[in-house]
Amino acid sequence: MTVPCIIIDVDGTVADNEHRAHLIQSDPPDWGTFSAPDRVILDAPIAPMIDLVRTLRQDAIVIALTGRQRALYHTTWEWFRQHRVAVAYLVMRPDNDYRPAPEFKLEAVRDLWDRGWRPTLFIDDHQATLDVIAPEFPSVQCLRKM
Ligand SMILES: [Mg+2]
Repeated sequence: MTVPCIIIDVDGTVADNEHRAHLIQSDPPDWGTFSAPDRVILDAPIAPMIDLVRTLRQDAIVIALTGRQRALYHTTWEWFRQHRVAVAYLVMRPDNDYRPAPEFKLEAVRDLWDRGWRPTLFIDDHQATLDVIAPEFPSVQCLRKM
C-alpha cells in the first residue's frame, strides 16, 4: 500500500532561526547554544508558509523532515503546537549524525518511499537539498522557499 504525502522542511521554511544564526556564523561556531531548546523554541513563525501547510493538509498528510537532531524532538513538536503547524509526522536527523543536509534528507526520503509514502510535493529552503531529491524522485514536485 502506498500513501501520498507532502514533505516540508522546518528551519528556514516554516521556522525563522535568524535570531540564533549568528551563533554558528562565529569562529568557532557555537552549535550547543544554537541548538539549545530555550533558543530554538523562540524561532519566529513564517506565517505564510504555516498557512500554506494548513491548506495543504486538507488534502494530504504533511510530514516535516528536518536536519534538526532528535534531541530537539519535544521542542520541535512544542513549537508546532504553539504556532499551529499542521504536521502529522516529524522525521529528524539522528543525534550524532553530522552528514550534510542533502545526504541526510535523500536517505530519509528513500526510507519514507520504501515504507510506502509517496511524496507529491517537497518544500525546502536549501537548493542543494532540492538538487539531490529532484533527479532521484521525478514524480515529486520540488519547491524552494526563498
Ligand atoms: Mg531549511
